[in-house]
Amino acid sequence: MEFRDLKKQYQVLREEMDRAVLDAMASGAYIMGPQVRALEQQLAEYVGVKHCLTCANGTDALTLALKAWGIGPGDAVFVPDFTFFSSAEVVPLEGAEPVFVDVCEETFTIDAADLERAVEDVLSEGRLRPRVVVAVDLFGLPADYQAIRSVADRYGLLVLEDGAQGFGGTIQMADQVGHDGNVIPGLTGNLRACSFGDIATTSFFPAKPLGCYGDGGAVFTDNDEWAALIASYRVHGKGTFKYDNVRIGLNSRLDTVQAAVLQVKLKAFAEYELDAVNEVAARYTELLQGLATPVIPAGYRSSWAQYTVRFASREQRDAVQAALKADGIPAMVYYPKPLHRQAAFDKTPDQVGGDGKNVIQGNGKNVIPGLTGNLCPVATSLCERVLSLPLHPYMGLEEIETVCNAIRKALR
Ligand SMILES: *Cc1c(COP(=O)(O)O)cnc(C)c1O
Repeated sequence: MEFRDLKKQYQVLREEMDRAVLDAMASGAYIMGPQVRALEQQLAEYVGVKHCLTCANGTDALTLALKAWGIGPGDAVFVPDFTFFSSAEVVPLEGAEPVFVDVCEETFTIDAADLERAVEDVLSEGRLRPRVVVAVDLFGLPADYQAIRSVADRYGLLVLEDGAQGFGGTIQMADQVGHDGNVIPGLTGNLRACSFGDIATTSFFPAKPLGCYGDGGAVFTDNDEWAALIASYRVHGKGTFKYDNVRIGLNSRLDTVQAAVLQVKLKAFAEYELDAVNEVAARYTELLQGLATPVIPAGYRSSWAQYTVRFASREQRDAVQAALKADGIPAMVYYPKPLHRQAAFDKTPDQVGGDGKNVIQGNGKNVIPGLTGNLCPVATSLCERVLSLPLHPYMGLEEIETVCNAIRKALR
């Protein structure tokens, strides 16, 4: 059994895919060919934002957003402790400091109450300026943007939506308001992932909800000024033309061939894959009744980058994973370590926050032994208990039943 069956997807899309890729190869326009611009327009329209700028990968997409905002030394960027490394890796690359925030047990996404606590700690410490919160749409579920936005507005934070796993998810906004607080005419109220942040990003890594056949990424925003800056930063900080360089940037473009692949995949994604993967997830939830299956809050729809079950303990989780493996079923631990325990961030030890109890991550001074363990307890505990099951739009009912039966057997 495949964890995410990309070969099966190719078999289904083969005819159309081969034609699109061969056309791109025959065209000769390998960098920034017409497929790139066409894809950007299709993505912007699908998501419901003004600008989409594709780039080389989802990590660069985050970097481009931070660069457009001028984030640098002395800035605090709040990042959930339970996510892929990239969400925080980009912060020290710009010279700023990540401050880790705990997540919610049931939805795996950033806890707005703990975000407020972390911002207050940073303010009372007085060393860093709170600038940005990275909200991650983890495993396909959009974060709680109404709660995040209310904290962000109070403290003047920019919201960076890391939608690498979230593309395709939606939130039914009860009051149908836009980011500026105004009612948007003609909106059904169903807002799509990658439209929730002041800037949002996604990744087209093959295993993401919308993947290409290599690396790729995109940045989304309604803001003209930021879009223009990102267009410059992604091509060596170009000015009026390619050999006029007005800022230090990156070489971060999406290949024409990958844009051609994504045009075919986006069509399948929008027409049936997103519905199909939601049906697979619903079937899992039905068959795994009684277990701590993923919680999708009312009004939310996930794009199911992962289907992640929480077990009672590390021992139980590890036993289930081993039993599945013995039956030829791949199941993965996303993520085995909270970010604050990653060696790359551990070099900058914790210190006590303004209230004398909580801990602020990372200034390289004031190691308080014993307190580190209290940082982000929910994220730390989830890392011991989560297990992600095989999931993709082309998964058959029989395969789902095989996985569920193997889990039941392991738990007996
Ligand atoms: C995959 C991922 C990224 C990075 O995307 P790449 O295209 O691999 O650089 C960033 N954030 C999250 C949450 C991811 O899952």
